[in-house]
Amino acid sequence: MPEITLEIVPAVVIPTHLTGEVQSKLAYVDQGIAKAVVSADGLHITLHLHQQPNSAERSRLEEKVQRVVTSLARGAIQPKVQVLEDFMDRPVRYHQDPNDVLLARGEMSQEAQGIFTLGPLVTRLIEFFENQFLGLAASFNAAPYRFPTLIPARYLERVNYFRAFPHSLSFATHLREDLDVIDDFAQHAACDHEHLLGALNTSAESFAPIQTLLSPAVCYHLYFSLADKPLPGGQLVATAVGNCFRYESFNLRSLERLWNFTMREIIFVGSKDFVLQNRELARQEMAQRLEKIGLAYRVESANDPFFIGEFRKQAAFQSAFQLKYEIRASLPFKNATLAVGSYNYHQDFFGRNLNISLPDGSGAPAGAPVHTGCVAFGLERMAYAFLAQFGPEPANWPAVVRDWIKTSAAPQNPGGA
Ligand code: ATP
Ligand code: ZN
Ligand code: MG
Repeated sequence: MPEITLEIVPAVVIPTHLTGEVQSKLAYVDQGIAKAVVSADGLHITLHLHQQPNSAERSRLEEKVQRVVTSLARGAIQPKVQVLEDFMDRPVRYHQDPNDVLLARGEMSQEAQGIFTLGPLVTRLIEFFENQFLGLAASFNAAPYRFPTLIPARYLERVNYFRAFPHSLSFATHLREDLDVIDDFAQHAACDHEHLLGALNTSAESFAPIQTLLSPAVCYHLYFSLADKPLPGGQLVATAVGNCFRYESFNLRSLERLWNFTMREIIFVGSKDFVLQNRELARQEMAQRLEKIGLAYRVESANDPFFIGEFRKQAAFQSAFQLKYEIRASLPFKNATLAVGSYNYHQDFFGRNLNISLPDGSGAPAGAPVHTGCVAFGLERMAYAFLAQFGPEPANWPAVVRDWIKTSAAPQNPGGA
């Protein structure tokens, strides 16, 4: 099939620091877009389309693209990137994309876009990294928690999530409690290669109003459990691992960016000083751990991928107050970096919005909102970046990793049968 492309000259030149941001946001412009490329000089956008658009469709596409461009790039000021650690020159031993070899060896298989099952090799590596994060959590005496995968819509609404990240939401619903609806669905539900066709036949009214979504992050659950009361003891360190969901459309490529991924977080709740000091301690301890592993990476200031309406204001705010730092691991095969973790400070945002207050005697005036922060690691990303630097052969891995995996391995079937 011939490639169908549409060239657009952006209304505003896209500055280099926003190339990636604009490119990934173009995924949400129209279902007809299969891929978008912003040229390095910021002067051209190439859309790859599923179908040839007619002229009305073309102008509509152009108008929507320009809306993304102007809201992200017009008057944008390049934030000063602050680099806290730079170990990008650590020696790496591999220069290929590990996705291909993992798929070829059956160490990974794709169920759908952004949804992968992982075999023993990646699983053991993830266990290794989990062990590192649990060690980090233990040094803060973090209390263990388990959180659900679903999250109530009213919770996310309370923390402005719908306005900030509408594009990446994943909704959970179910059939209405109605015998006719359920019977009808049971008889007609069928799938094509991607979609549930029964859902179309049975119409949207078959589904219950949406009460829940799939959780986009781990730490929110903790804040909600603390809402509307003083924080007992005035400070808390907690840790949990959980399934997270972010729909990233055509940006969902390989193990690098998933719809359904796993995040380990260590969460700090208390006064401003308590949160900031612990975030910094966590970073320093993590630096030592990453040094032993030999990972090539840097830690630099960053911002969250807010949707276009909120992006400019929020990203500038995060950058001005140094609210987010990312651990960006080197991906040698494409001479790029990928966020494998982040050190976040939310100021008193959750304390204020969820009415979590500091009790008497905690330093701050009683009743003042708590501050929060979290250290978050993407488990699949961590394993992916490691494999991108050291390859799929354990014999080529740093000894700390190899030895841990060897000694912690579950006993093999002794009979060999
Ligand atoms: P990115 O900049 O890559 O979009 P993020 O800044 O939105 O990621 P955080 O909100 O800081 O990510 O989440 C913490 C960690 O969770 C990230 O550093 C990354 O390792 C992981 N993560 C986030 N989004 C995804 C995803 N779509 N697929 C896999 N891992 C992810
Ligand atoms: Zn968090
Ligand atoms: Mg990021």
